[in-house]
Amino acid sequence: MMKKGKCILLYSGGLDSLIAGKILIDQGLEVIGLHCILPYFPPDMDPDQLKESVNAKQIGLNLVHYRCGEEYISMLKNPLHGYGKQINPCIDCKIFFINKAAEMMLETGADFVATGEVVGQRPMSQHKNTLIHIENSTLKGRLLRPLSAKLLNPTIPEIEGIVDRENLYDISGRGRTRQIALAASLGIKDFSSPAGGCLFTDAFIAARIKDLMKYNPDFKQRDLYLLKTGRHFRINPDLKIIVTKNQNESLELDKYERDSDFFFRPGFSGPSVLVKGVLKEEDINLINSIMCRYGKPTSEENNITIYKNNNIHRELKCIEPISDAELDKYRI
Ligand code: SF4
Repeated sequence: MMKKGKCILLYSGGLDSLIAGKILIDQGLEVIGLHCILPYFPPDMDPDQLKESVNAKQIGLNLVHYRCGEEYISMLKNPLHGYGKQINPCIDCKIFFINKAAEMMLETGADFVATGEVVGQRPMSQHKNTLIHIENSTLKGRLLRPLSAKLLNPTIPEIEGIVDRENLYDISGRGRTRQIALAASLGIKDFSSPAGGCLFTDAFIAARIKDLMKYNPDFKQRDLYLLKTGRHFRINPDLKIIVTKNQNESLELDKYERDSDFFFRPGFSGPSVLVKGVLKEEDINLINSIMCRYGKPTSEENNITIYKNNNIHRELKCIEPISDAELDKYRI
């Protein structure tokens, strides 16, 4: 007869964490899924609407969402174990998540923390040595990886009989065949793709984050979120602009006017521009020409309004659009 137990599952919405959760739920454990939300997600988003939250329902997993904020960002700026191919601090990111799960384990009186990690699956964060290193630095025998447990030393919940080691697995390597078969046998149909399209692994976003790190090292969560919105241009070390691509983005960017130093709105069908930094006369002309490049001013509708602190600062008339070759010099 197994003892009843409670655990915190580090949950990503991917196949492996869903399988890990289902294995433990099927063993009669109370499982709380800790879903860490990276700082570039919209600040006003409802986490229950995320695909990951919907995926959790199919295994009856209750989630607690944790919004990664300033603490995560300071790790991102200076990860102890460095970056992967782009600006992804995978090892420190995992340590961060596991530390949050450990905190939650203590707060809730849970017996252990579980993850969907697989030995040898990812070169950067999941090879065996890294798994052991993470465990030693935080949870001391209370970190269980149900998918690879039989390849690792027994953890305290296994030794104490809270978890049945016989019903855990010995999966290793990068292949997905065993997980896919296991998921089918456990009735798991919907899951997010591996790494869930983490933006920190995206070369395009990485370039924008590197720009922030160089010119605006004090950046905050909303700056990371805005990296996904619009076209970004570095005009000079003291000035960066975000130019929207469509009306939805313009409506979204409107919400961040208070975070801007200046905000340009077109009186024609065209982009809004959020300005961060010091705006000189020649920059005003440059931004005007960029708005005209992406917008469609007409002989009747050809004015631009500059706002500062929500008040009208100045009105402009459209000028000649900038050439693409010239514009590309500023693009981030
Ligand atoms: S891919 Fe992204 S979410 Fe996953 S460990 Fe790396 S930085 Fe963290």
